[in-house]
Amino acid sequence: FGTINAMPRAEETHPLTWRLRDDGAMVALDEYRDKHGYEGAKNALGMKSDDISELVKEAGLKGRGGAGFPAGVKWSLTAKGEEMPRGYVVCNADEMEPNTYKDRMLMEQMPHLLIEGMIISALANNAFRGYIFLRGEYHDAAASIERALAEAREAGILGTSVLGSEFDFDIFLHTGAGRYICGEETALINSLEGRRANPRSKPPFPGQSGAWGKPTVVNNVETLCNAPPILYHGKAWYLGLALEGSDDGGTKLFGFTGQLKNPGLWELPLGTPAREIFEDYAQGMKDGYRLKAWQPGGAGTGFLLPEHLSAQMCSNGIDEVGTRMGTGLSLAVDHTVSMVSLLRNMEEFFARESCGWCTPCRDGLPWTVKILSSLERGEGEQGDIELLEELTGKLGPGKTFCAHAPGAVEPLASAIQYFRDEFEQGISHPRRAAHAEPIPVGS
Ligand code: NAD
Repeated sequence: FGTINAMPRAEETHPLTWRLRDDGAMVALDEYRDKHGYEGAKNALGMKSDDISELVKEAGLKGRGGAGFPAGVKWSLTAKGEEMPRGYVVCNADEMEPNTYKDRMLMEQMPHLLIEGMIISALANNAFRGYIFLRGEYHDAAASIERALAEAREAGILGTSVLGSEFDFDIFLHTGAGRYICGEETALINSLEGRRANPRSKPPFPGQSGAWGKPTVVNNVETLCNAPPILYHGKAWYLGLALEGSDDGGTKLFGFTGQLKNPGLWELPLGTPAREIFEDYAQGMKDGYRLKAWQPGGAGTGFLLPEHLSAQMCSNGIDEVGTRMGTGLSLAVDHTVSMVSLLRNMEEFFARESCGWCTPCRDGLPWTVKILSSLERGEGEQGDIELLEELTGKLGPGKTFCAHAPGAVEPLASAIQYFRDEFEQGISHPRRAAHAEPIPVGS
């Protein structure tokens, strides 16, 4: 994370990263508190749970895990009240989106910001226990979190009397075992309960019935890390961080990866034009490389063309150019990369990570890999591209149990839309009789 630690940061502009140390070491409790750490949680302790949700809603905080659902709305929908059992706050730290490593940086260096965010979420959602569901390979993040949890318990920040109040809440770390699907919130809950990580049907949403049947709010790491500055500085300050034209409030950890002069991670206002991130922060392509396409936020988002770099990086800005902001860590595809090979590689990943629970995803994704592999070898047949297009429809939103397959086919559909000629170059055979009619998905 050399880039982010080296960038100029100030509290007025960088609510997530202004406390980062230049040496990249974890910000320990004393240092965090010296820089008014846990003051946002103290403010939340003096508020009603509904007022906390309302504040976060009005501040325009949208989920930072990839889907962008408004966090305050999610909190306001959690089942709570005198008659309801207290439930759970689960931090989704199973960061496995290809090309995405922003939560890792926050957890390794700023674990107290996450703990404070979880306390605020627990107050808003009347939760008695928090779990951090962490990607198993994130060993350094696990060490930082364990140390921060011990520091927080020792200081009375967690436990039976949070920050000296009557509120009791504690957090436990749970490490996953390396499945992409565990990042889907209901699969995550199943895994946390010790079951196989298959997604559950929604509704009921976890806020109504989640872990062990209790109300459970699942939020991404970066989302939770935004709660303390909102509670400390207020909604006007937070809304003012984003640029004009952005529907989202606050800042975001953005990244750009690929054959770039300065690939990295930066905290920037929501609504920053993608071109500014690409040219000013990532400093454009390395000499000898040309930008051919880019993906705004992870493998599950659609490809865009260089001309789309004029889009603002915020949910509405990227929606306007036909895809989603996703995790906000972009990928630059250079002119040497074959789109067919890139897509074959991506779909292999998605096919391998399918939980196999629903038929379209289990059978449809390997089918795309089979077709893409033959196109890659130059052995495709007439009708293959149309068949791929049909599959992108049949695996799209609403056709499968969760967002895994729809995310998997979004880059495929856009790659065919913008680079159809590359797919056509892989066709060398007439259509074979056995494949004359598309085979229904799932047969
Ligand atoms: P989703 O749109 O189904 O849900 C988003 C959130 O909104 C969930 O918490 C859901 O419960 C909530 N929600 C939606 N409608 C609701 C309602 N009516 N009432 C209450 N809550 C509601 O998407 P998802 O499956 O959570 O996420 C898919 C995204 O995750 C993809 O877009 C992808 O970009 C991203 N992703 C990220 C990673 C990562 O490592 N960060 C990994 C895989 C996927």
